Amino acid sequence: MSFLRLLSRNRLALAGLVVMALVVVLALITPLLPLADPDVTNTADRFKRPLGDAGLLGTDHLGRDLLSRLLWGTRLSLAVGVAAALIAATIGAAIGIVAGFYGGRTDNIIMRGVDMLMAFPYILLALAIVAALGPGLLNALIAVAAVNIPFFARNIRGVTVSIAHKEFVDAARLSGMGDVRIIVTEVLPNVIPVIVIAMSTTIGWMILETAGLSFLGLGSQPPQADLGSMLGEARSALITNPHTSVVPGAMILVIVMAINLLGDGVRDALDPRLKSGALSRPMPATLVRRDSVPPQPRTEDEAILALRDLKTEFHVKNRVYKAVGGVDLHVRPGECLGIIGESGSGKSVTALSVMGLVASPPGVITGGAVYFEGQDLIGAPYETLRRLRGNRVAYIFQDPLATLHPLYTVGEQLIEAVRAHHPTSRDEARTHAIDLLKSVRIPNAETRIDSYPHELSGGMRQRVGIAMALANDPEVIIADEPTTALDVTVQAQILSLLDDLRRERGLAIVFITHDFGVVAQLCDRVAVMYAGRIVEEGPTAAILGAPAHPYTARLMACVPELGGGRRELAAIPGLPPVVDNLPQGCAFADRCHKATDACREGEVTLVPKGPDRAVRCIDPEIATEAAQ
Ligand code: ADP
Ligand code: MG
Repeated sequence: MSFLRLLSRNRLALAGLVVMALVVVLALITPLLPLADPDVTNTADRFKRPLGDAGLLGTDHLGRDLLSRLLWGTRLSLAVGVAAALIAATIGAAIGIVAGFYGGRTDNIIMRGVDMLMAFPYILLALAIVAALGPGLLNALIAVAAVNIPFFARNIRGVTVSIAHKEFVDAARLSGMGDVRIIVTEVLPNVIPVIVIAMSTTIGWMILETAGLSFLGLGSQPPQADLGSMLGEARSALITNPHTSVVPGAMILVIVMAINLLGDGVRDALDPRLKSGALSRPMPATLVRRDSVPPQPRTEDEAILALRDLKTEFHVKNRVYKAVGGVDLHVRPGECLGIIGESGSGKSVTALSVMGLVASPPGVITGGAVYFEGQDLIGAPYETLRRLRGNRVAYIFQDPLATLHPLYTVGEQLIEAVRAHHPTSRDEARTHAIDLLKSVRIPNAETRIDSYPHELSGGMRQRVGIAMALANDPEVIIADEPTTALDVTVQAQILSLLDDLRRERGLAIVFITHDFGVVAQLCDRVAVMYAGRIVEEGPTAAILGAPAHPYTARLMACVPELGGGRRELAAIPGLPPVVDNLPQGCAFADRCHKATDACREGEVTLVPKGPDRAVRCIDPEIATEAAQ
């Protein structure tokens, strides 16, 4: 179980677990041990020292065997503490779930009641409850449970509120489930870890509180021993016979320490954010683990950016996802290269690998090279990458609402982008930012610069994203589906804007998309990606005119043509392979209509086909034409 594995990685928690297990086993087997009767007094043997003739731990002020009293007392204290915790957790969680789930007036009434309970100092409240019910262990248990209910109620309500508005709860409601069923099947499973965490961190506290009440004589009544009453009775002999108080005191210390260490460990192991790795910070650059460096290709000397046999993997637990499995690409100044492929084919990971932006862990670059102006960026020192990122190689992402900071104006963010690489005065940077907004054709740039991201439309925000990418006059822009979230007219405007920019500034653009229409409009060359590899590459017109790889052909058949008359729209059957278990040979074979056994045997290589084209297929669609 992963929970136990996580827990065992925490040494202190493990120590706590071992100690607690020992204590619990001792408490459980106490009735079976050959112990003296804990309640039999023997005044002749009062205050015997430990390790003497009267038992291992000596005797107390009435001559009772301390070892026996300690074990029986521990048993009682643990039972009361755990029972109090269970009761408080159950009632508190129930209150919290009802309040959080129903909200509104129910929530208000319940939580104000809870607030009133919380307003009392809880130890006074516990004393008041015991005073009202009368002294006794059961009443002490009730008091301790009662004063801890508000803590659970508050905690669980908070969690429930956030869950009650999630889509899966709405979906359960739409499917006609009743409230009780929704609470039990949808809400409760999500709340239980929080309940367990709250319990594990408070149980030690509740044992202490019960001991406190017993210490004051309000809990267990003589002659019955629990740890608190043992301490209370030993109090008067604290100086003369310290062992009578040290024995129960040490046990309380050990139990509470062990429970708290264990509780912290349980919390860390159960916290879902820790499991997803959200609290482990990614490294500033992707981890590189490669054996050899492929040389820069001679034929692509004039290319500003060239990828050689790039391999990027994700190492998750003992799985290896080969997201990018050996990609060769290059782009020249002023050229636009399109990368096209289905979702999950590795386009984004390829793009992010260029600047070492794939999150590590779990990402690892395991091979290949990325040459930018002849310099290999894979494994380059972080400082080198930092100087290039956003300065000479800039990115545009799909969703500008997610990449722009919501609490700063777009102007402030543009100024920050400029000043990150070119330390200029704020005024200069602001003038530059206004120019940038103008260059991406944002009307009234002087006033728009003080807008917040939410005040702009999607198209405007994406223009800001482009302006930010242009801020430092980069040589290369990598655009990862920048128009996918936009409607067609805005998309057309953004595309023509990018086209103009690259012609004016000689920008090299790597444009990632899954849309052949966009490729046709903007790109000079296109690379088709499938399962982490390039399956076909060449000039856009040539590929759109006569696709060579069956995958490209079928992808294009999926695109409806306006005014192209009625024709059947083909969907590609099946799904792309999962990249942690790629098939032998051609990854597309299982979905290909002309696959033969030969396709599934050996590695299929990318072979040149005609001028400037290459295809990774042993039986390409245009075998004859390409041979001309
Ligand atoms: P796309 O072509 O849609 O941009 P991506 O490059 O985002 O595809 O993803 C490529 C592959 O890498 C996918 O199969 C995806 O499941 C896998 N992948 C991406 N990020 C991670 C990650 N953090 N952990 C494991 N696998 C990942
Ligand atoms: Mg993507």
